Amino acid sequence: PLRHSLHLADEAATLAFGAAIARQLTPGLVIYLYGNLGVGKTTLSRGILRGLGFDGKVKSPTYALVEVYELSRINLYHFDLYRFNDALEWEEAGFREYFNDTSVCLVEWPEKAAELLPAPDISLYLTPDGDARNAELVAITPGGRTCLNQLLT
Ligand code: ADP
Ligand code: MG
Repeated sequence: PLRHSLHLADEAATLAFGAAIARQLTPGLVIYLYGNLGVGKTTLSRGILRGLGFDGKVKSPTYALVEVYELSRINLYHFDLYRFNDALEWEEAGFREYFNDTSVCLVEWPEKAAELLPAPDISLYLTPDGDARNAELVAITPGGRTCLNQLLT
């Protein structure tokens, strides 16, 4: 897999990185966001949504499990599976259908529903670095590699 690491000095850097990712998103991509509580997964998602032109409030989907953004360019589904515990609820809510060729899915805490989730195109790992953060992107599929290559050029 293709990998890339970078330092995110502050929240503004995380938001800017999200906006840079947004420019390279294509329909169908699934991005897993790994990292502990408070590391910046939702902040990065907010940066992506801002980059896609969404001006509204970006809520953490911790309780709803998903927030839906139907944008002009793309439908974006932002999951936070921290409180996920019911495979049946997952099926009944139709979440599987959210993963399709026309949508982009961002998934916080994918490890909580690993057995149900479609595989990612890119896994993104956020870790603390003093008061700042480090990010590592791992592109897994051809679509993920194209996205990451574009991001690096
Ligand atoms: P998570 O979704 O991973 O639980 P949040 O995005 O909700 O985390 O919260 C992240 C916190 O870290 C916010 O207070 C945000 O301002 C801060 N933050 C985000 N990126 C950085 C960064 N690169 N350096 C320092 N603080 C950051
Ligand atoms: Mg979060």
